[in-house]
Amino acid sequence: MGNVISVTVITDPAFQQHDTGGGEHPEIPQRLEVIAKALEKSSLQPLISYARPRAVERSQLLAFHSEDWLFRFEEAVLSGRTYIDHPDNQVGYDSFEIATLSAGTGLVGVDLVEKNPQEVVFGSTRPPGHHAEPNMPFGFCFFNNCVIAARYWQRQYGRERICILDFDAHHGNGIQTAFEEDPHGAYVSLHEHPSFSYPGTGWPEEHGLKEGRGTILNLPLLPGAGDTQVRETFARIVTFLESFQPEALIVGAGFDAHAEDDMSGLAFSTEMYTELGTLVADLARRFTEGRLLSILEGGYHIETLGDCTVAYLEGIVRARQQAAS
Ligand SMILES: [Zn+2]
Repeated sequence: MGNVISVTVITDPAFQQHDTGGGEHPEIPQRLEVIAKALEKSSLQPLISYARPRAVERSQLLAFHSEDWLFRFEEAVLSGRTYIDHPDNQVGYDSFEIATLSAGTGLVGVDLVEKNPQEVVFGSTRPPGHHAEPNMPFGFCFFNNCVIAARYWQRQYGRERICILDFDAHHGNGIQTAFEEDPHGAYVSLHEHPSFSYPGTGWPEEHGLKEGRGTILNLPLLPGAGDTQVRETFARIVTFLESFQPEALIVGAGFDAHAEDDMSGLAFSTEMYTELGTLVADLARRFTEGRLLSILEGGYHIETLGDCTVAYLEGIVRARQQAAS
């Protein structure tokens, strides 16, 4: 293998069929198209191969979600409903099946990382997951892709201590729900401060509860915060992982904190995502023997989303090339 780092993108044409209504909804099929095009045009292109997800099984969904939610979701789409609980959560007839496939990107990703921890693995997937709660959809999310991947990693491979690092502009309330009482799951989230932003969780005082005390690190940023403020959090993230000692790292890679993305008031540059890629690659080298899996969350500014994704993956690839040379 030498210094050649390979990249696997897990995606599926079926993701385009998750129908969010075609109106003003920002979570649209075109998101994955611009990512695919940007990857094709990028310096990464010769390194990339593609893999398909497999649908997550019911028992694997039940590692986080309730039986009641699975029935309710399936019934809603089959009965022709166009959204569930809130107009944010638009669905079409195939959305249940597509959501099981979207969650399945994480399973295939975990398998690939276990085979070769040096491979850069990215799930280019929709619907996203980090807002999904055990009993309900939330903020365009139906199944919590990152949490389902974490539970699979624990059960299938015995990697007990999993950290999810989430740099989407919004707090991943569903991930926090999964891990806040769990001593083996850690959650680090960079997001716009809950006073100003959806969904209103992710306060710095939320550290985890009961046995999970100390396993949550919320790093809210004030509106207007950009690269400087993000860099100021890096040392705290490293210290937190030093204390938690994860065996695997999952990244909730959302790109809606970009300055051009009006889904948040944050102002990250495109280059910031390269730095975040370098950061997570370094964290994985230091703490998890390289085990790192990235899964797309938000990112809605169609003109920059592809470039941000490329910038992030380039950050990981470069860090790994340097470490190998
Ligand atoms: Zn978001």
